[in-house]
Amino acid sequence: MKKNYAVVTLGCQMNVHDGERISGVLESAGWREASLKDADAVIFLTCCVRGSAERRFYGRLSSLKPLKDRKGILIAVGGCLAQKEGLRLLERAPYVDLVFGTQQYPRIAELLARAAEGATCATGMDGLHLDNIPVKRKEDFRAWITITHGCDNFCSYCVVPFVRGREASRPAPEILAEASRQVEGGAREIVLLGQNVNSYRRREEGASRFVDLLRQVGSAFPGVWIRFITSHPRDFDESVIRAIADTPNVCEYVHLPLQSGSDRILAAMNRGYTRAAYLRKAESLRSSLKGVVLSTDIIVGFPGEREEDFLATLEMVESCRFDAAFTFIYNPRPGTAAARLPDDVTPEEKHARMERLLHVTRRLTAESLRSRVGGEEVVLVEGESFRDPACWRARTRGNQVVHFPREEQDIAGKFARVAITACGSWCLHGRLLEVLG
Ligand code: SAH
Ligand code: SF4
Repeated sequence: MKKNYAVVTLGCQMNVHDGERISGVLESAGWREASLKDADAVIFLTCCVRGSAERRFYGRLSSLKPLKDRKGILIAVGGCLAQKEGLRLLERAPYVDLVFGTQQYPRIAELLARAAEGATCATGMDGLHLDNIPVKRKEDFRAWITITHGCDNFCSYCVVPFVRGREASRPAPEILAEASRQVEGGAREIVLLGQNVNSYRRREEGASRFVDLLRQVGSAFPGVWIRFITSHPRDFDESVIRAIADTPNVCEYVHLPLQSGSDRILAAMNRGYTRAAYLRKAESLRSSLKGVVLSTDIIVGFPGEREEDFLATLEMVESCRFDAAFTFIYNPRPGTAAARLPDDVTPEEKHARMERLLHVTRRLTAESLRSRVGGEEVVLVEGESFRDPACWRARTRGNQVVHFPREEQDIAGKFARVAITACGSWCLHGRLLEVLG
């Protein structure tokens, strides 16, 4: 078998990071990364959190069929949709050679070899062990480190617990050892990754909790920025806010998905908190952490959502003054508890509510960005701006994007101090003051 591969990643950060592991495993087995047109094997990492993600994937998949017919490449499909569909995916797209589930990717090299002999489906969920699985980082300066995988929350709309399996926490020494390897390899930022990082080792008696891990990672790597996603409002508490405040290199950025501002809908979603509890946490974040950036996820049109529930969401969004919001139209997912409820908000109403919500969230994002103009920020330079090669693209501690004119010197992967001079709807513009190294 020839040995060029390409990974096509759809969906969330979990998939992006799984892709880094897949590259690591394949390269240690002698494969080389190539462009799509030069690949002998194309590996998709799929998402099924909403129906639109599924449709997008099938579109991309069928566009590869001519390449398959012409060159006989191997097509492999992994990630959440592969886990959910299993053999059905092979029936629907018989030109696929390999379907592999969310806990199978460490075996990717062996599975591709099997698939070369005949169509293969591997979707067992008997646990995932990440220690000693190589990683090829997509970005030299940023290391994603999984601290928990799977999810036990069973929010009633969400398919993730079904396709990612039960929640399991990695031992702290394993996480610290991986972080240490990544920092030695040049990482300047560590992102601790989990569906609900705050429940890290929740079930183990006497084990260290998320805050302890955060403090440990923070003090072990003092010159490195530390972030974490995703937090769950039920489990995110004062102790995390204190840990961020006390640990200088933990960034003041929290992604805390609200989902809805109505207590009735939050209960139907099985989220485990009320709007009052969420608001207390958001207010405490704002008052304890100067300049904190708070982002969120919101779903509109959940079954039974009435105008008054939606208005409660709008009101919460205003009260929390979210700096950024990812907004979704509810989409029933087969097998979830909410899929048994009547999907009774009409598509027109869902879209109308989405527009009204976007009107508010966009204004708040613009206000948040505007409030930084005139100030100074320390940023981590990520590389050339996607839009304007004459600019660098960087991120603040609060995860806001800043563009600033490039100088001769290559400062990608370095920290720098910039003056914020202007802002657009989604990002800041600045001027370099000093390269910090
Ligand atoms: N574990 C993370 C990410 C979950 S998926 C968390 O709890 O935040 C990312 C977002 O997709 C969710 O926060 C939710 O807002 C949205 N989402 C999940 N299922 C959905 C569905 N069936 N319809 C619409 N949006 C959904
Ligand atoms: Fe889905 Fe809820 Fe788990 Fe997030 S916490 S992955 S929304 S079940």
